[in-house]
Amino acid sequence: MKFWFITGSQSLYGEETLKQVEADSREIVAGLKTPFPVEYKLTAKTNEEITEIVKQANRDDDCAGIITFCHTFSPSKMWINGLSLLQKPWLHLHTQFLETIPNDAIDMDYMNLHQSAHGDREHGFIGARMRMPRSVVAGHWKDAAVQEKIAEWQRAAVGALFSQNLKIVRFGDNMREVAVTEGDKVEVQMRLGWQVNTWAVGDLVAEMDKVTEAEIDALMQEYASLYTFDEADSEAIRYQAREEIAIEKILIREGAHAFSNTFQDLYGMKQLPGLASQHLMAKGYGFGAEGDWKTAGMTAIIKAMYPDGQASFMEDYTYDYGHELILGSHMLEVCPSIAAEKPRIEVHPLGIGGKEPPARLVFEGKAGDAKAISLIDCGGRLRLIVQDVTCEKPFQTMPNLPVARTMWRPQPSFLEGLECWIIAGGAHHTVLSYNVTDRAIRDFARIFDIELVCLNRDTTTVSLERDLRLGDMIYGHTLH
Ligand code: MN
Repeated sequence: MKFWFITGSQSLYGEETLKQVEADSREIVAGLKTPFPVEYKLTAKTNEEITEIVKQANRDDDCAGIITFCHTFSPSKMWINGLSLLQKPWLHLHTQFLETIPNDAIDMDYMNLHQSAHGDREHGFIGARMRMPRSVVAGHWKDAAVQEKIAEWQRAAVGALFSQNLKIVRFGDNMREVAVTEGDKVEVQMRLGWQVNTWAVGDLVAEMDKVTEAEIDALMQEYASLYTFDEADSEAIRYQAREEIAIEKILIREGAHAFSNTFQDLYGMKQLPGLASQHLMAKGYGFGAEGDWKTAGMTAIIKAMYPDGQASFMEDYTYDYGHELILGSHMLEVCPSIAAEKPRIEVHPLGIGGKEPPARLVFEGKAGDAKAISLIDCGGRLRLIVQDVTCEKPFQTMPNLPVARTMWRPQPSFLEGLECWIIAGGAHHTVLSYNVTDRAIRDFARIFDIELVCLNRDTTTVSLERDLRLGDMIYGHTLH
């Protein structure tokens, strides 16, 4: 993945100035310490040059977005034809080569060269006039805060490119009668690019039958290096290894990075995949339980945006009104990337599904600030809901609840946070991410032009209800 840096200029100020613009632009690009590389491409002087570089960016599969900056005055009519073709995310970096105005050195030549305050406003106008979705970052390019904003946009752009190519394998259908995990797969493919298709559980069972004992031995060694467990549980754990290997083979064969399953359709399987799904999530795959392919997709995207981060499929289970905390867990499938301690594999009965007791990882989630993310289908359109939460170390040991778990308090406050989530229609399933920022998620939503509802310390139920009504006006809604 690369980002292309395009500097805007024109020929009015002569060759000497253009050489300086290019040299300065290269220095700026070399100074950007961002998670994904930025490559200087061009100092654009004409409509034709801009149109051609945009066509090249669109065609290049490794180009995840363009960054523009008008060092000299680049009149914006020359950008119209190119920008109208742009299919990649766009960041307008409103910077300047020098941080301060040099008192003695400033003269008319300096003014003509360093006119971002002038050219970038012209550039900003055409972005606004064309209603182009773009991220705007202002500040000196050496400033760490400016570079962090560019980094957040890069992560959103990488997530967007990943989304446009994302394939999700569904083993079985949606859990019977559940509404929020349903959704319009055609709409999601048109909007986010996801290819969501179903494979029979029988296909998975056939693949499981082909897994060799040697393959299972190798995965058991990996489990032993990462987790603790009792030898007495080996047989049940080996069955999870068999499931994991078979699921991953199908995902690799199909080029998929996320999957869903449901405990109501495990025909021919002895255990609900628990450890298997957890370890696949730790490898970067997205997962959604009970057929929840939307949360599976969002989990995969967040993991692609933050490859070394902490993110998991999650579920709000039960409340402690006294301590003002939500217990987040699932019957099995929580990603060990969020663990505060070395996870332990345990085998216990499940209570539903009528299968053998499944092996699962048990641990406490780590404390810290995080976000709960839910993508819902509002009927002909999507809403992305993101709530700021603070995770705390669980204050009880809960010895009879052998699952991975975490506890958190939502913003703006416990009760108003719950009211906001319910009003917005957020699901019980979420992606819990310790890394994603407001800026990155806003950039992501803007790239796809989907409704974004952020619930944070500034939110009130009054402001939220107004914003949701505005969202209905902007994005349209289907009457009940
Ligand atoms: Mn669930």
